[in-house]
Amino acid sequence: TQSLVFVGRRVRWYRPVSLAELLDIKKHNPDCKIVVGNTEIGVEVKFKKQQYPVLVTTTHIQELTSVQRLQSGIQLGASVTLATMDAALKDAIKELPEDKCRVFAAFVEILRWFAGHQVRNVAAVGGNIMTASPISDLNPLLLACGATLTLVSTEGKQREVKMDHTFFKGYRKTAVLPNEILLSVLIPFSQKNEYFLGYKQANRKEDDISVVNAGMRVVLDDTAKVLDLSLAFGGMGPTTVMATTTMKQLQGLTWNEELLNKACELLTSDLPLDPGSPGGTTEYRRSLTVSFFFKFYLTVKQKLQ
Ligand code: FAD
Repeated sequence: TQSLVFVGRRVRWYRPVSLAELLDIKKHNPDCKIVVGNTEIGVEVKFKKQQYPVLVTTTHIQELTSVQRLQSGIQLGASVTLATMDAALKDAIKELPEDKCRVFAAFVEILRWFAGHQVRNVAAVGGNIMTASPISDLNPLLLACGATLTLVSTEGKQREVKMDHTFFKGYRKTAVLPNEILLSVLIPFSQKNEYFLGYKQANRKEDDISVVNAGMRVVLDDTAKVLDLSLAFGGMGPTTVMATTTMKQLQGLTWNEELLNKACELLTSDLPLDPGSPGGTTEYRRSLTVSFFFKFYLTVKQKLQ
């Protein structure tokens, strides 16, 4: 394959075939837009009248399109499509012990309800992360599992960033710097005493965006005491958010009804949604966060028996 460039009246469109070439294009065109599936950019251009005079497609760059199994998990290039991601996670689930793949299983379940086949066949994982939509279906799971992003700057400098409550800086804003691109995302293996689930509530079951969604992870000791807990939600603010107070306050407690009651109380104050917040249905959305935790609590409780 060779690099391509098409020059039109309003848009220049590049298709580099190496990472070095991509970084060079970005260095000389700092405002260029990377495009993979075009399922976000297409909507912005057609309906929001955004203009992107320099587009760069990254579908032919090996570092961005490969899937690798590493010691600590599965690393997906940023331009890996959701369909390829789904297949890679399903292969791992088939081949590896169940307790190593609990995070992957939750991603597979959520991907089933992510758009439809047409979108999943072209849209990439990196496009979902970088759009930083408050109702992204992947970001709550990525925050809850503590996924690690590898970023690379136009100078070729790489750095790793753990996705936690500090990653999303505001509505559609992330900790990725303007001169950086997303190279890959590492989704970690789970451990024996770790439980991980994802939830999505939409108005329509198939091919619809979320009202509220969530990623939930807990690590318990042998006596069912909480060693670590991560609760991330979409649809509860201008960014994907983590219920940080609830996460802290439940540390060290035993996985029983007392913990459940405390969690329900804390979650309502941890994730306030003022009446009149964009999206409406605030009461409904607040109750969904508690319902999701209730489901999570019961599923984990059953696994412990
Ligand atoms: P693109 O539109 O190609 O790019 C999106 C953004 O990411 C751009 O700003 C681009 O510059 C940036 N970007 C991409 N790669 C990189 C990189 N490597 N480094 C830096 N920046 C990068 N989303 C959900 O979460 N759940 C759904 O159920 C859902 N349903 C949808 C249904 C339809 C019909 C449509 C049109 C969209 C839907 N979406 C949904 C949103 C969208 O499909 C996803 O966010 C998708 O993952 C975007 O990927 P893409 O490759 O199409 O992004």
